[in-house]
Amino acid sequence: MDLFEYQGKQYFARYDIPVSAGGVADTVEEAVTAAEAAGYPVVVKAQVQVGGRGKAGGVKLANDPDEVRFHAGNILGLDIKGHVVRRLWVEHATDVAEEYYASFTLDRGAKAHLAMVSARGGVEIETVADEDPGAIARLHVDPATGFDEQQARSLVERAGLPDKARQGAIDILQKLFRCYDEGDADLVEINPLVLTSDGRVHALDAKVTLDDNAAFRHPEWDRFRDIDELDERERLARSKGLQYVGLDGTVGIIANGAGLAMSTCDVVNQVGGSPANFLDIGGGANAEVMANALEVINSDPLVKAIFVNIFGGITRGEEVAKGIVAALEAVDIGPPIVIRLDGTNAEEGREILRGVESDRLISQPTMLDAARKAVELAGGAVR
Ligand code: GDP
Ligand code: MN
Repeated sequence: MDLFEYQGKQYFARYDIPVSAGGVADTVEEAVTAAEAAGYPVVVKAQVQVGGRGKAGGVKLANDPDEVRFHAGNILGLDIKGHVVRRLWVEHATDVAEEYYASFTLDRGAKAHLAMVSARGGVEIETVADEDPGAIARLHVDPATGFDEQQARSLVERAGLPDKARQGAIDILQKLFRCYDEGDADLVEINPLVLTSDGRVHALDAKVTLDDNAAFRHPEWDRFRDIDELDERERLARSKGLQYVGLDGTVGIIANGAGLAMSTCDVVNQVGGSPANFLDIGGGANAEVMANALEVINSDPLVKAIFVNIFGGITRGEEVAKGIVAALEAVDIGPPIVIRLDGTNAEEGREILRGVESDRLISQPTMLDAARKAVELAGGAVR
């Protein structure tokens, strides 16, 4: 999950990395309020998940409320590389003496973290890498041993940061590594990391990508999710705690486990159909989860047939079947449903389903049979 700059700065602040005081604003008047709170002069910054906002006119200095109104009015709605600005971050302006670069990211090939520091900041690091690769000091960090002050010092020296910035940069690098490591990020980048004219080292920008695989231990990440960027189906699914991927075919897919859900998409494609989505309801396919899943799928006008593919493991077949029956009583489903139930106690489960079967609810013994039936009910093969 990528964070906006203001969210990245909130994340940095938790690890004591110095950032400027500021506030978010979705309107011109909110920008003025945020500016008053931050203290003039301020910088008005577009919040979009793309670099080069400065060059695109998305970062402007303002000395008074009229200037804030002027810049906020121009930046809101601005299209920066296909991203329309809907939110601003307004922070107290920093008196910048020099601009540097610092980041940690995962180097999968090296099976290690990669730290990069450069005395050339404020320009995209790819540009520096092309034009002047020697200007970037790199260090692989062993995940088992971590990153210490000695390594931070060596990086800062090799990058050629001036003496007056060294201790501040070393401190920030150590905090930035904690933010990356304990904070479960895949990327943390400060560009520019600045030396202020009064000698402090400070993060002027923040780029943070969180590792979605660690989300289970970070309930606080929920507030970072950009609900506005999701479509209606994804919003509904997320609000019910379901993993949902929207596609553009006609067969709605519910399966327990992401692997099975993806295989189900493949089989639907194999028999000439086209998935409308895939919804992973996880291991505990109980009545409530099933009802929620059916409700999400049912709200999708693209769906012409629903394929429920459940392999009973820890959740036994009869529990799954009872869940489906209860869900059908709770939700008024439009499209016909094809169910393939297998695994632990599958026969007991199918017995329960037989009691409610109709031409709108059909049980099939294998995944392939079920896929064929679902595609047929969805209007036939599309290729
Ligand atoms: P980006 O262009 O999307 O990377 O946005 P940044 O947040 O990095 O801002 C772009 C540039 O604006 C920075 O490299 C700085 O040169 C400048 N800038 C941003 N904030 C300030 C500030 O508080 N004071 C000064 N003097 N310059 C700033
Ligand atoms: Mn930047």
